[in-house]
Amino acid sequence: MADKRDIKGLYRDELAKLCEPAYRADQILQWVYEKQADSFAAMTNLPAPVREKLSADFELNAVQSVHTRHATDTTEKFLFELRDHALIETVLIPATPGLTSQSDRHTVCVSTQVGCAYGCRFCASGLDGVRRNLTAAEIVDQVLQVQKITGERVSNLVFMGMGEPLANYENVLRSLRILNAPWALGIGARKITVSTVGLAPRIRQLADEPMQIRLAISLHGATDAVRSQIMPVSKKHPLTELLEACDYYVNTRHRMLTFEYILIENVNDMLDQAYKLASLARQLHAKVNLIPYNPVEGLPWKRPDRERCKMFQHTLKTAGVTATLRTEKGTDIAAACGQLRLQREKSPASKLPITGSDLAGDGDF
Ligand code: SAH
Repeated sequence: MADKRDIKGLYRDELAKLCEPAYRADQILQWVYEKQADSFAAMTNLPAPVREKLSADFELNAVQSVHTRHATDTTEKFLFELRDHALIETVLIPATPGLTSQSDRHTVCVSTQVGCAYGCRFCASGLDGVRRNLTAAEIVDQVLQVQKITGERVSNLVFMGMGEPLANYENVLRSLRILNAPWALGIGARKITVSTVGLAPRIRQLADEPMQIRLAISLHGATDAVRSQIMPVSKKHPLTELLEACDYYVNTRHRMLTFEYILIENVNDMLDQAYKLASLARQLHAKVNLIPYNPVEGLPWKRPDRERCKMFQHTLKTAGVTATLRTEKGTDIAAACGQLRLQREKSPASKLPITGSDLAGDGDF
């Protein structure tokens, strides 16, 4: 028997081609995305034989929630299981009233791969390498399941969970088009941020797509010497190549870039890095999002103290660069990028320990 197809990975016109009459596709899509039906059987305005055929041919859910953690600041972290039993993480980050103008904003942070191949030395996601790419349906369904579980409407998306989005280019692009489509979730492209470790050729490719999403670059070092200490990818795509691709992106898309910069004590938090970073940001008209490092169990890196982070930010601002210093969110639930999954995989039966996290913050998406 042929494998069933995931309905949440299909475009409207692809589904319409499989439907007879074609308007059935819109009825089905309404059940899937608007009413978020639990099963094909629940799609009560469809004739019974149609519902049976749908159940025989398609999978409705691509991810299943196995664990949810709430933090005191209302950040929620979800552990999802895929049909092959792989685990991925998704986070819901509500805006904090009073801190941002849009207090009703809800940002979901999605994963794009099981694990990650890039092995950034500070990151928990890549410790065991990459297992596989997520399908478009698995990416889309993370957002749908979070909406369903929490009852909150998702307004913003960041592709900053586990994995490297641009290494799973085709599936990520497909998921972006579905998440953005008015017949599915209708999340505005300008409210979607894709973050990359710095895959220069893919950044150029993305620049040529007719899509107004936001792009964030995980820079984390303003020179190759510093960057290569923590990001092996910088050997393959050194800063000159990366920055040329960024320049191409900015000039082609006419969109501002964000440089993400995690602050790690005595690695990249020195003021000479701040000066160099300021100069790079000015050249590319990029803004900088400073993120105090979240310590990962078993890794040696430390977060600088608050004063030092503020000093770094101040240096950038004085040099005329827009720089936000991320406020901590989700600090009492595990985990920037992959920590929650790591804990679960190491000790499946045990209770998940509580560690720090500030995966995404305010005002910068
Ligand atoms: N692969 C993509 C997206 C996933 S990671 C990328 O590299 O951009 C999202 C962001 O979280 C990246 O900037 C990553 O460097 C950062 N990150 C990873 N581990 C972290 C940690 N322990 N503390 C703070 N930020 C971390």
